[in-house]
This record gives sequence, structure tokens and C-alpha cells, in this order.
Amino acid sequence: MGFFRDWRRRRLLQREPLAADSWQALCGAVPLLACLSPAERERLRELATIFLAEKTLLGVQGQNLEDKHRQLLAALAVLPILALDNDWYEGFHEVIVYPDEFIPRHEVEDEQGLVHVRHMPLSGESWSHGPVILSWADVEASLDMNGYNVVIHEFAHKLDMRNGDANGMPPLHRDMQPADWTAAFRAAFEQLNAELDAGRETLIDPYAAEDPAEFFAVLSEAFFECPGDVQRGYPAVYEQLRAFYRQDPVTRMQVVHGIC
Ligand SMILES: [Zn+2]
Repeated sequence: MGFFRDWRRRRLLQREPLAADSWQALCGAVPLLACLSPAERERLRELATIFLAEKTLLGVQGQNLEDKHRQLLAALAVLPILALDNDWYEGFHEVIVYPDEFIPRHEVEDEQGLVHVRHMPLSGESWSHGPVILSWADVEASLDMNGYNVVIHEFAHKLDMRNGDANGMPPLHRDMQPADWTAAFRAAFEQLNAELDAGRETLIDPYAAEDPAEFFAVLSEAFFECPGDVQRGYPAVYEQLRAFYRQDPVTRMQVVHGIC
């Protein structure tokens, strides 16, 4: 299976890669991607080509998804796996895109066994073994490097869910220590909650304090969008994310933009 999949991907990249000129234009127009080196943009193009061939992107409620929308979404979706590979997004097939925030019809069971129907509008959602669901308005709001990136957030949940329920700890590489990950994230989670309890302003979106899974997803957004904040505020977490994503956005952005 692995051999056939690899062969199919290689053939796809030889025969039908995303067009280089439109890809360069896309990367140049999105500040987050403009930070990437030429080699990284090329790798991103390969990952996005495979992503678009293997996933179904479905616009609903009138959301039109033209090629430029699909490519933008794919580019943001594969940024976290830039130094990994497409296998990290195996196990689901669909990305569903609403025009704006959507209200899911979920029934959730609480600790007492009572079933509630949630009516909270969402900007994105990741189902275990199911689709990623996004609001296009929020995808567009994810382009200006303000720390908010719904695409990275939802795909970070997908990475987290590769080893079971989302719990804030994706499967780590062999050269990483789970105890180091847990210690770094636990201390940072407690630090964030203490800052919120004290009424202090926080470096990252307070939504991260919701639970360890949201903490990982929000920190992943910030790691790519405003990595200097993560490195300053939560240095041990930055090191763990750098080891997991195998990317160093602080260095990347300093080299290209002199920012962070
Ligand atoms: Zn989330």
C-alpha cells in the first residue's frame, strides 16, 4: 500500500504539479508564506499538490471554491507538515467550507450522562476520523499574521488526533521525549491560567486555556504566526513545537523580514 501510494504521488508531482507561476504569486501575496525560502515554497507546492489530489474540498451553503481558493487553503493546511509529509493527514478525506461561521448540530454528553445540543457558532471544527470544517471568512481572516489562523488550528487538531482523542499531545518523533513535552506544556498551561486568573493580558489567545487540546492548537497557530511571542512567553513549548514540526519560524522570519 505504501509503495503504491508513494508511486502515485511521485507520478502526480511529475505530471500535474500546481503551476509554478500561480504558486509563486500566491506565496508572495500571503505574508506567512512569503517568509519561506524558495526551497520551502517548492516543498510546500508538492505537499499542496498531493493534498488537493487526496482530499475533497467541498464548499457548502453557496460557498464557491475556485482554484485560487483551493490552493490558498491547501497552502495554509500543509504549512504545519512542511518538514513532515502528507501521511500525517491520512485518515480523513473531506474539508468542508462554509461561507462564514456555522452552527453545528452536535449532541454532546456531559459527565452526568445528559445530552446537550450545542448552538455555538464556530469558525472551524475537526472531527476525529472525519472532516475538517472551516468558515471561509475566517480563512481570509487568517492571512495577516495577527496570531489567528483557523486553518493551522484545525489541522493541528488533526495531528493531535493521530494517536487517539485530541489531548494536546500528537505522536512525537523518536528523538523527542514525551516527559519533556508534558512538562513544557503543563507548566505553560498553568502559567496561562494563572495569568488569566490574575486578570493579566496574555501573549496568546485566552481560548488556549480551554483545555490541553485547544492549548496545543492555539500554540501551533501562534508558533507559525507570531513565533517570537511563543519563544519569549513559553520558551520550553517553543522548543517542543520546533522539534515536533521540525521548523524554526523565529529564525525563518528574522532572516526574511527581520521581524519577531
Ligand atoms: Zn480547537
